[in-house]
Amino acid sequence: MAHSDVTVIGGGIAGLAAALALQDAGRDVSIYEASSRWGGKIKSSLVGDTMVDAGPDSFLARAQPTIDLCERLGLTSQLTTPVAKVPAYIYREGKLYELPKKTLVGFPVDADAVAASGLVSDQAVAMVRNEPTLPAHENSVETIGGYCRQRFGDEITDYLIDPLVGGINASNVDTLCLHSALPLLQESLRHSHSLVFGMRQVLEKRRKESSSILGGLDTDARKRKPTFYSFSTGIASFIEALVTELHKSKMHLETPHEPIHPRDSNRYVIATPAYGAAELLKSTNPKASELLTQIRYASVAQVTLAFPKKSVTPLLDTSGIVFPRADNMLLSACTWLSSKWNHYATDDSILLRLTTGRYGNDSHTAALSNDELTTTLLKDIQQVLTIHADPTAVRVQRWPRSFPQYEPGHNKLVAEIRQSLQHKTPNITLAGAAYDGIGIPACVHSGIEAA
Ligand SMILES: Cc1cc2nc3c(=O)[nH]c(=O)nc-3n(C[C@H](O)[C@H](O)[C@H](O)COP(=O)(O)OP(=O)(O)OC[C@H]3O[C@@H](n4cnc5c(N)ncnc54)[C@H](O)[C@@H]3O)c2cc1C
Repeated sequence: MAHSDVTVIGGGIAGLAAALALQDAGRDVSIYEASSRWGGKIKSSLVGDTMVDAGPDSFLARAQPTIDLCERLGLTSQLTTPVAKVPAYIYREGKLYELPKKTLVGFPVDADAVAASGLVSDQAVAMVRNEPTLPAHENSVETIGGYCRQRFGDEITDYLIDPLVGGINASNVDTLCLHSALPLLQESLRHSHSLVFGMRQVLEKRRKESSSILGGLDTDARKRKPTFYSFSTGIASFIEALVTELHKSKMHLETPHEPIHPRDSNRYVIATPAYGAAELLKSTNPKASELLTQIRYASVAQVTLAFPKKSVTPLLDTSGIVFPRADNMLLSACTWLSSKWNHYATDDSILLRLTTGRYGNDSHTAALSNDELTTTLLKDIQQVLTIHADPTAVRVQRWPRSFPQYEPGHNKLVAEIRQSLQHKTPNITLAGAAYDGIGIPACVHSGIEAA
């Protein structure tokens, strides 16, 4: 292989962001991507005759490096925000409840708002009200679930926090690390030992910050103070723009990089999943390689369906519905794509994306054929929707080993991996979803940092 100043391995968002930062710094960059397309988890494909996001469909709006990257790529005018009236519904035992107002990723900030939603019992509401009077949590608590159950009890944890926090991590709060899985929690704990008070302060801070983040955007977006963004042509526009901008770099598609040779002193950014990085490092840094294999992954699958509008009742004006683990359904979330985004709205059809797969129970999904998966998820969604017609289009997208799990000890594990790299192979650095956050902004940031 011809040598460049820096070789980036992995053409997902983290690798491409790293490559652009290096190219902008005047480096000669080569990028290797194993598959036949750029973008990794960021992908769009056809549902009927419409190109629809097949992985993520949005990213957190307040992450400045990502907003800066959008500007650098000339994408700012294409930024768009969810338009649905109700941010989310939560399913519980056959009924839908609006996500209580003033929650942050399911964390309650206001007991009255939780009470008004009708989602949980009076006792659960009383626990939210009482939470600020509890002493700080014990140091032995290691998981988000352990922490939330202590402060709010099981009902709030299982029906409010887990469906959202567990959902976005394809996991469950009882295995997610309190100290690394959700930066929002650390931020809240820095403000107060009380989660309710801490989250309130985070919420207040964000309100103030949003005006500066929104500089340069269209008036409508500014008015809405968004939490999430996508692009008016779908999220894959991010990847197309990055690839276009990387024209000075050497781009190699369908070229899996081989394990790095122990005597190879070239500089590398490895931006593959952790298990891929483990393979690449197995001869040059066996210790880091072994540690990387300890980061586990969950697999998810998504079935996206189009239906004639008149065949579905009720027609909800929402971004989606989450389904708590506690209710034992295969379905974990339904994203109402055509209500959530203007770019998927049409007069006569609706677009639903049904998601399944959580750490620990994802092998069940893998065992189902595409038809079985579609039938089962459709049966689940029909607990809340009446659907009178067959879908006019169906797309099944599986994402095996796609969500790294931040289990207790994650930060320590990542620190050990980095120490080992620094000590033994300082020419190699890591980026991507496995280390400092799984969301797109965290991956962009990690790519830029690695560069
Ligand atoms: C279904 C789904 C929905 C999601 N929804 C959201 C969302 O709404 N918002 C959000 O912020 N985040 C979301 N995420 C998370 C986010 O999309 C990912 O964490 C992020 O895109 C991962 O980027 P990455 O660059 O770290 O890794 P990847 O995208 O996994 O890219 C790594 C690349 O490395 C390549 N590779 C592996 N081995 C080699 C090798 N030896 N040589 C060369 N190339 C190699 C792979 O082919 C891959 O393309 C979602 C993820 C999934 C799966």
